[in-house]
Amino acid sequence: MRLNLLSPLKSNPKSSADATNATIRPQFWTRYTLAELNHSEWEALCDGCGSCCLIKYIDEDEDGDVDESLVEYTDVACQLMNCETGYCQHYDTRQHYVPDCIQLTVDKLPDMMWLPAHCAYKRLYKGQALPSWHLLLTQDAVATQQQMRAVNIGVAGRCVSETGMADEEMETRVVNWVLP
Ligand code: SF4
Ligand code: SF4
Repeated sequence: MRLNLLSPLKSNPKSSADATNATIRPQFWTRYTLAELNHSEWEALCDGCGSCCLIKYIDEDEDGDVDESLVEYTDVACQLMNCETGYCQHYDTRQHYVPDCIQLTVDKLPDMMWLPAHCAYKRLYKGQALPSWHLLLTQDAVATQQQMRAVNIGVAGRCVSETGMADEEMETRVVNWVLP
């Protein structure tokens, strides 16, 4: 199954954190379950890596369960992705252009284990810690961006748009820098 999905991805992580600090409870990611988070806290978990906006190939068994080990990401991004910045060009109105863009919610998360291994939503769902470079831990957007680059995370500057691309070509563009 091909999926070119989703995200709670909004603008850039620094501005998101700044805009919502007033309602973010200290260390919320260690003190509350995902279901107990408020909107600002939920949004602040997204690091803006953009990986979930890449086209990916997913195998499901008869029960609809995903075998994470078989998920393959390509470097081909959704038509709305700005491949230079790594951000959605029309996030607020994206479903007008991409009706199947999935809104990541706590209810859908159990069926979304194809998310990349570093994604904070997936990590917290699995009982893991935030990645050390996450903005919530560093509180320094520049340091976070540098560290994300150092560990090879983020689509900015290294993805291509799906627009005009044939399915056959997409199938040749599987990459190993996004792992589920
Ligand atoms: S993979 Fe996770 S952290 Fe990255 S943009 Fe998508 S939802 Fe946000
Ligand atoms: S519409 Fe925007 S958020 Fe949704 S998959 Fe495309 S680029 Fe990502």
